Amino acid sequence: MKSKSSNPNAISSSIVVNKINGNGFHDEVVVVNGSSPDLYLDDEPVRRSQKTDPELGKRVAQFLLEKGVATPQIETGLNDDEKRTIIARNFAEIMRTLGLDLSDDSLADTPKRVAQMYVDEIFFGLDWRNFPKCTTVENKMGYSSMVIERNINVQSNCEHHFVIIDGRAHVAYIPKKKVLGLSKINRIVEYFAKRPQIQERLTEQIFYALSYILDTEDIAVLIHAKHYCVKSRGVEDVNSDTVTSKLGGAFLLNSATRSEFMRAVNGVVNA
Ligand SMILES: [Zn+2]
Repeated sequence: MKSKSSNPNAISSSIVVNKINGNGFHDEVVVVNGSSPDLYLDDEPVRRSQKTDPELGKRVAQFLLEKGVATPQIETGLNDDEKRTIIARNFAEIMRTLGLDLSDDSLADTPKRVAQMYVDEIFFGLDWRNFPKCTTVENKMGYSSMVIERNINVQSNCEHHFVIIDGRAHVAYIPKKKVLGLSKINRIVEYFAKRPQIQERLTEQIFYALSYILDTEDIAVLIHAKHYCVKSRGVEDVNSDTVTSKLGGAFLLNSATRSEFMRAVNGVVNA
């Protein structure tokens, strides 16, 4: 999984250790030698415990590109430990520029914490290799009513300020040939939330990923969220929130289907 890099910023050597997280999964963790021997802080949870499907992630990424809703990304050629090392170095520079004293023991490890948080936690969804495993089952029972998963937690970050977007997603679909485990819908929402986002694109990415996996357009995604860049800076509006939706197939064309979905989520949107 780890590849030796020819990047000039690459660290000279690294060792790989296995950590066992709370779920009993083994997470491969790279500990960087040399200038930052303790890049991985024991008190920090490391993501990647869930099962991933890189092959599916690659196909979904390609599909989003075709639909024009992909996150603008470039191929850096950097592996994760190279990313952490470079981010830590640059974040230290930001802190020093702000006049913070990095020799203080409370601040000393912040650049490493931020680097780990960016790569392994809040932005892990930038890497298609981290796409959740989403096995579908054949719709043998012929279930053809609406399946609604409500109140899915959305913890994301706005791509304009890198501050929190905090909200809920409600996702519905009408099964055709395939049925997806409900927790997988949560995983897909989480995956796309874990990248710098705008809410409109997040909504579209969830919609098209599900449309690809379930092979249907009969999908509805509605997200309402508070944007902390609006709440804590700029206009400082503490009460406003943003609602976005993407409706396809029957949800778009059939007003009864659309109403059924909206009724089901209405109570929780205004809660
Ligand atoms: Zn913002």
